Amino acid sequence: MADLYQYRETPDEPLDCLYILQSTSADPLDRLELSAKERKALKQKMKALSPRGDEGEVISGECPLEMAHRVTFIGVGDEKKLTHATLREALRRVVRQATKNHEYQIGIAIAVRIKGLAESESRTFALLEAALADYTFDHFRSKKNEFDKIDGLHVVPMAGETPEELEARLQRVRLYANSVRLARDLGNRPGNDLTPEALASTAREVCGDEAGLRVTVLGPKELVKEKMGGILAVSQGSEESPRLIVLEHRPKKPKKSIVLVGKGVTFDAGGISLKPAKDMGWMKYDMCGAATVLAVLWAAAQLELPFKVVGLIPSAENLPSGTALKPGDIITMANGKTVEVDNTDAEGRLLLGDALTYAERFHPDVIIDFATLTGACVVALGHEAAGAMGNDDELLEALVRLGEEVGERVWHLPLYDEYFSYLKSEWADMKNAGSRWGGAVTAGAFLQQFVPEKASWAHLDVAGVAWAERERSGLPVGATGFGVVLALSWLEQLKR
Ligand SMILES: [Zn+2]
Repeated sequence: MADLYQYRETPDEPLDCLYILQSTSADPLDRLELSAKERKALKQKMKALSPRGDEGEVISGECPLEMAHRVTFIGVGDEKKLTHATLREALRRVVRQATKNHEYQIGIAIAVRIKGLAESESRTFALLEAALADYTFDHFRSKKNEFDKIDGLHVVPMAGETPEELEARLQRVRLYANSVRLARDLGNRPGNDLTPEALASTAREVCGDEAGLRVTVLGPKELVKEKMGGILAVSQGSEESPRLIVLEHRPKKPKKSIVLVGKGVTFDAGGISLKPAKDMGWMKYDMCGAATVLAVLWAAAQLELPFKVVGLIPSAENLPSGTALKPGDIITMANGKTVEVDNTDAEGRLLLGDALTYAERFHPDVIIDFATLTGACVVALGHEAAGAMGNDDELLEALVRLGEEVGERVWHLPLYDEYFSYLKSEWADMKNAGSRWGGAVTAGAFLQQFVPEKASWAHLDVAGVAWAERERSGLPVGATGFGVVLALSWLEQLKR
């Protein structure tokens, strides 16, 4: 990962290249903090190269400044239409170009503003996209591509942006970017590497002593004691035993209690209701909700939040075997409610139900859960937004607004009382799956049965946004880390 620096802290050697992001509508140089001499020299160069700022445009030349060998103009198109996604794509072009040219120290001038955002927010999120643009996951390659990686990203300040302001921004960006990287790394680890046990030991390593969180892991014995029939039922077809990972940020005299819950199915074959073989390998991503919660808690510990934040990660592997849960089985959840398992592939809600019950002991004011829960949500919203449901419209609307701002979109779906009737069982309190219709919202209706009474609750179904099958919207293939920036921004807003 490239380190972030301020442009003025240039190393002894000139930078390999200075990248200037440019729209079709404004002169980028007028927006940057440059000396009169630098601006004049760059203006002349720009005149000679005559970049137009069209989306996809990449134009390079010799840099007239001593600070860099080359200068490259990267077009982003019409600024009025500039979204997080178009900016990400442009920054991926920067990384690709730099890698191709073996440039290790590059300058970056993002002289554009994201549509609909105040200048300060746009600046922060643009820098965050820049900090994430070189993300790759090569942990399992025997030959690493280190040689072609960018070492340093030197950020050119905007006009009027003081070094102190920029440094404060960069600090926040580093924390957020590291948190997103952590979530992506976890998401990209395959099922044979990241088992529930390995997820728990990673949580201990990453979030324990050094990060300052209290980490508690409930293993099979403790789960039996807590009567967590949902988590135990899902894992009973696998050799891998389940875990409930509990991460706690505990300030003195906390003002509030927030619980984040993340689905951690480290591999989901569907169980006896086996999934089709095609694309089943993607099901290693069925723990992306857990990855988000772990990464958010890791970062939250460093934000000195004045309220309690708890991360709950129920984790299991869902496989078919002679001991696996069967369709028609009736199980008893931690809160005593019984569930007829109609479809063993609707396992996430069984894990989450028990975790939501467990949340009660933290007296939560707000619970937000992140889960790659239903294909139905992907059918409804594609890869552009997470589906959000819950019992508090104000909370949901706040997440929708914030999601738009931070580039992790959320769309509010209804949770009508009638949906629960879709889960009516002849034999138990409820079934775990309804008919084809309303698959995303009936999952929400199921979860609602386990939410502690007084808590505001939002359920984010991230099935469509947690990973990218191919590079899209400037996101690399694999886990996206969706929800990390949203949750961290939401926690920081709560602090204010
Ligand atoms: Zn499933």
